[in-house]
Amino acid sequence: MTATVTKPQYEIKDIALAPQGKQRIEWAGREMPVLRQIQERFAQEKPFAGIRLIACCHVTTETAHLAIALKNGGADAILIASNPLSTQDDVAASLVADYGIPVFAIKGEDNDTYHRHVNIALDHHPNIIIDDGSDVTATLVAQRQDQISEIIGTTEETTTGIVRLQAMFNDGVLSFPAMNVNDADTKHFFDNRYGTGQSTLDGIIRATNILLAGKTLVVAGYGWCGKGVALRGRGMGANVIVTEIDPTRAIEAVMDGFRVMPMIEAASLGDVFVTVTGNKHVIRPEHFAVMKDGAIVCNSGHFDIEIDLKSLGAQANEVKEVRNFTQQYSLPSGKSIIVLGEGRLVNLAAAEGHPSAVMDMSFANQALACEYLVKNKGSLAPGLHSIPTEVDREIARLKLNAMNIQIDSLTPEQIEYLNSWNAGT
Ligand code: NAD
Ligand code: SAH
Repeated sequence: MTATVTKPQYEIKDIALAPQGKQRIEWAGREMPVLRQIQERFAQEKPFAGIRLIACCHVTTETAHLAIALKNGGADAILIASNPLSTQDDVAASLVADYGIPVFAIKGEDNDTYHRHVNIALDHHPNIIIDDGSDVTATLVAQRQDQISEIIGTTEETTTGIVRLQAMFNDGVLSFPAMNVNDADTKHFFDNRYGTGQSTLDGIIRATNILLAGKTLVVAGYGWCGKGVALRGRGMGANVIVTEIDPTRAIEAVMDGFRVMPMIEAASLGDVFVTVTGNKHVIRPEHFAVMKDGAIVCNSGHFDIEIDLKSLGAQANEVKEVRNFTQQYSLPSGKSIIVLGEGRLVNLAAAEGHPSAVMDMSFANQALACEYLVKNKGSLAPGLHSIPTEVDREIARLKLNAMNIQIDSLTPEQIEYLNSWNAGT
């Protein structure tokens, strides 16, 4: 995957990290056969010729392949981070140096820099926005009304971004189409569940090096991400407790074999806590008060507000970094609480995010969603749009082919039977 190097402006940690980043990008590509096929087609067909595009995603080896596919498809694309802690600085360097893609992202950037980068991206006057969490779209809608006429549409990667877009639509401020990538089956079935399941435990283990076997793991939220974390936690020998607010999801967790209880009861039992709700203050002062000394808390859901860290910080006598991405809050009671990744996504802050094999399908959806927006320019109504079922199915078919797995197909007799109503008992 090569591209002509122009002279982009960029803001990254260190351009000298490029060789390592290039090697890691190439390694990830081995597990991304679906996106590679799309990228090769884009390079021939140039569906994005003349299109200005900004991608606000975690700057990882996987996102690199998405950005390269879009650029090779003719897009004038730039990349910014969707989270202040998730940038892989070597990848950012290689995208700039080896692939000619401007990147504005530095791991550990403060909130002001993060929002400055969002505004630099909007200064690019995009026609298409790829968002992960809806920060760019929300900024556009709130502060850049004059640019809305330039927008063909946006595509959204994650559950909370979809929730925010729906809220914008309900408020009457979403006046362009937004492709709902998260809700494609080939996205959330795999990315949210198996991706978050594996990479969250990876983040916890890299940050702490604890043994999970025999520990009590409390998972807040039994949605797609929560199911993955609970399942993989059990696989590692942890005793898993689930907390929920939705009765149906709570029953599902019970029937999947997990203990379910309110957080206030789980708080005193847990050794490790993971929030995956997309909500705020799911773990708060009354929970910290009854936790065991040394309890570990982290978030793999959305922003850094799922855990009420402001309150914890206000109570603490001392906050000290005890390992990378691991802070110990010492409380007046003599107990300490351990917080991973500053309450931001632990899988992306302390590890490398989801493995490439799942991001292959998520980003195939992103690439095809962008192409769909261009092909249907001017004819899509404002608001959220599903990824067409045939696109979703095709991604699954390509993935199975790449995995060398064949499946059955319907016989003519079965097709006739499934379309009939008069062949009963
Ligand atoms: P989901 O809607 O399927 O699940 C969220 C669950 O949390 C729901 O079942 C909801 O009832 C529950 N919940 C809400 N408030 C709660 C509370 N106070 N206590 C207990 N449970 C509560 O969403 P999802 O797809 O599982 O995504 C969850 C979050 O993770 C979102 O913010 C999403 O954007 C994010 N996400 C993160 C990653 C990652 O890489 N870490 C990957 C995908 C999605
Ligand atoms: N801006 C929010 C976004 C939530 S991130 C925040 O960072 O707080 C959740 C999304 O990250 C998921 O939907 C998933 O598709 C994406 N993600 C997970 N691993 C990734 C990886 N290796 N590369 C790029 N994106 C990744």
